[in-house]
Amino acid sequence: MRNRKILITLLCAAFLTGCAAEQEAEKAPEQELEKYTNLSADAGFDTVYQQTEFGYDHDLMAEHYTKAVSMFSSFNDLFDIYNEYEGIGNLMTINANAGIAPVETDQRIIDMLKEAKMFYEISGGAFDITIGSLLHVWHEYRDRGIALNQQGTKAPIPSDEELKEAAEKCGWDKVVIDEENKTVFITEKGVSLDVGGIAKGYAAEAIGQFMETQDVVYATINAGRNIRTVHSKADGKPWSIGITDPSDGNSLYCAVEMDGSGSFVTSGDYERYYIGEDGGIYHHIIDPKTLKPADYYHSVSIITPDSGAADCLSTTLFTLSIEDGKKVLEAYEKETGNPVNAVWIMDPQKTQNEEGKLSGEYFCVYTDGIKDRITFVRN
Ligand code: ADP
Ligand code: MG
Repeated sequence: MRNRKILITLLCAAFLTGCAAEQEAEKAPEQELEKYTNLSADAGFDTVYQQTEFGYDHDLMAEHYTKAVSMFSSFNDLFDIYNEYEGIGNLMTINANAGIAPVETDQRIIDMLKEAKMFYEISGGAFDITIGSLLHVWHEYRDRGIALNQQGTKAPIPSDEELKEAAEKCGWDKVVIDEENKTVFITEKGVSLDVGGIAKGYAAEAIGQFMETQDVVYATINAGRNIRTVHSKADGKPWSIGITDPSDGNSLYCAVEMDGSGSFVTSGDYERYYIGEDGGIYHHIIDPKTLKPADYYHSVSIITPDSGAADCLSTTLFTLSIEDGKKVLEAYEKETGNPVNAVWIMDPQKTQNEEGKLSGEYFCVYTDGIKDRITFVRN
């Protein structure tokens, strides 16, 4: 499974770079910009980290890449809910001490938790990292389900009772963040935090901001499909980022133009799922209201300057109607002043009379801010 995921991610990474950076290399302006690209499949977050930079100094670009990979790894260690690391009070330590004691932790964890809480608030609870116990139930069923599906068998789905029981062990009212003492305390045993919907984007944003302090001409970071661009390309043309066709999870469905430094993150139902006994697709983005995988879309992409926000918002909007999703985008813009755009891809029968485009077998809705910046592969 891991190998398959890595292969798909590598293909995806290659495709995205193809859209963003490699094509532009062919049209490179007169200055002799050198392209440096490198990737690591074991830097962290069980995904592929890829970075492409254009500059004049190969050794400097290699140094940037090494530093970026080490930052990605260190965020992995902090945000890991499955492993502990010596000398760090990480997410797993915090979860393991639920109902026992506050855990002394790193400022980066506290900052990330505060951001996640802000998204809980502006999304009316649709984005909720305190539903770890519920996500854990789905995670177990999904792992078993994927193995059974590989043997050609449809797999069990959790009962409503099991889901309701897990849902009782959730809630921000059971999490105490003590900024002064740098501790986090989960006050009730069995409650746990799962930061899968924010962690990679948050790490990519930190790396993007680091790169912006360095002598970088322009670059792209692809942290497991969380794309963060650094500066504008030398030719001044916009970045062009591809959205994957949900039917195969690999080929290009459409491309969106984006200016300068920014981020582009997609959540999709084709990433991690299994087929249940009822023939339904059970993927990894859970609607806290129904306690089940959200059923509106095949993918939601977010375009906004901050990659941590883009990661949260793509997961959030996946669990909401387009109308409610747009309200969250408005609340986010109001809260931060950052512009944000979104692209929803869904089955045509699931549209709610929105304006959009039927392309191939899907219907695509997008916010006004990108209506002149989106190109479809099929008309
Ligand atoms: P990916 O990690 O595949 O890029 P996402 O960014 O959309 O995809 O995050 C999905 C992950 O977010 C899940 O694996 C789970 O850890 C977490 N998650 C699922 N549902 C929610 C939710 N409603 N609120 C917050 N986190 C969630
Ligand atoms: Mg996300």
